[in-house]
Amino acid sequence: MLMVLRSLARSDVAGMREWTGANVLAIVALLLFAGRGRIADVLSIDVANLLFLGAPALMHAGFERHLGRPAPYRALAALVIASTLALGIFHYGVDAMAVRVALSSLFHGIVYLAMARGLRPWTHPGRARYPIRFAFGAALTLAAAHGVRAVLYATHHDAQVTLFDASPVNLVCFALGTLALPGLTLGAVMMANAGLIGQARYAAEHDHLTGAWSRRAFFGRAEHAHADAVRTGGTLSLLIFDVDHFKAINDTHGHAVGDRVLADLVARTDAVLRGGACARLGGEEFAILLPREDADAAVRLADELRRTLERAAVAGADGAVVHYTVSVGAASLDDGESLASLLQRADAALYAAKRGGRNRVADARLVDGDRCKYATPAM
Ligand code: GH3
Ligand code: MG
Ligand code: MG
Repeated sequence: MLMVLRSLARSDVAGMREWTGANVLAIVALLLFAGRGRIADVLSIDVANLLFLGAPALMHAGFERHLGRPAPYRALAALVIASTLALGIFHYGVDAMAVRVALSSLFHGIVYLAMARGLRPWTHPGRARYPIRFAFGAALTLAAAHGVRAVLYATHHDAQVTLFDASPVNLVCFALGTLALPGLTLGAVMMANAGLIGQARYAAEHDHLTGAWSRRAFFGRAEHAHADAVRTGGTLSLLIFDVDHFKAINDTHGHAVGDRVLADLVARTDAVLRGGACARLGGEEFAILLPREDADAAVRLADELRRTLERAAVAGADGAVVHYTVSVGAASLDDGESLASLLQRADAALYAAKRGGRNRVADARLVDGDRCKYATPAM
């Protein structure tokens, strides 16, 4: 498991340090347990128990950090110390192995229960489901097994129980004990990998500066929407828009203010779209797919967008207020039309809007060569 965790060593995944630490603790604890009779009891019993409980406690801390919460280090340290003291009492005070096993299981059960509580899959809706369900299931199984074991040993402590009998309870406990940390570590690695895949996908599909869909994501979605519209005979409209005289904004107020304008534009556009999303095709050019809108609705929405952005104000340097406008080309899919042709008509409409004076919407149906017979506001 340590070798598996090493594969993610340079990934910066939150929780990785704790998960690695947990596996190191468990290895040392198991080596100490194995030295029973050959090394001092304080090492093979007390220190080994301390480290062996420290392992799931660190595992839990790792899951909490991975899920974006602070790790409850103090509570875990208090639990581990209390457990060690309690085990010490039943080692050096009254030497009662069954009670030690019951207490040890009780403390393990508490840690696994806290772990399962933190991992409840339904409280993490945005995450990949399988890895978190797997880790949650493992933590819950271990909590239940330790609960049963604690009760069995607590209620039969007068019987001649030893940890090394080949009894069914011991066999189940050994099997679960052997699988506990590897199982939880597998869950952790799956969660880490799912998180990294999610981050990589987000980065590929979004523009870093504005949070808009990337050009690549836009074309993927556009192809899907086009195929859908062709198959079902439905509508598909497209807006392409571009900031007017953006170079002048950069030249006057600086590149950083230009960047702020782009981010402001995307935030306001997404608000106008109410659930839709705009994509950055490059530079200061954006596009919006409207799969259910016909041409008239698309032109109306384009003009609502144009008017919203016209009223926007972005803070420039030295208290300056920066206003900006956009020109929009609107086009709707004709029967049998290809996606490339739709894009080309929307683009031609955008340039008609630019030629018409900027800060306006041009309807591709009415663009005729260099002229646009209709646009809002009227050209
Ligand atoms: P028009 O009204 O014809 O569209 O004029 P324009 O000035 O907006 O168009 P032009 O193509 O001349 O200039 C676009 C500018 O956009 C030039 C480029 O430096 C700037 N630009 C492109 N990407 C970014 C960016 O990410 N941030 C900033 N601040 N500027 C950018
Ligand atoms: Mg421009
Ligand atoms: Mg441009």
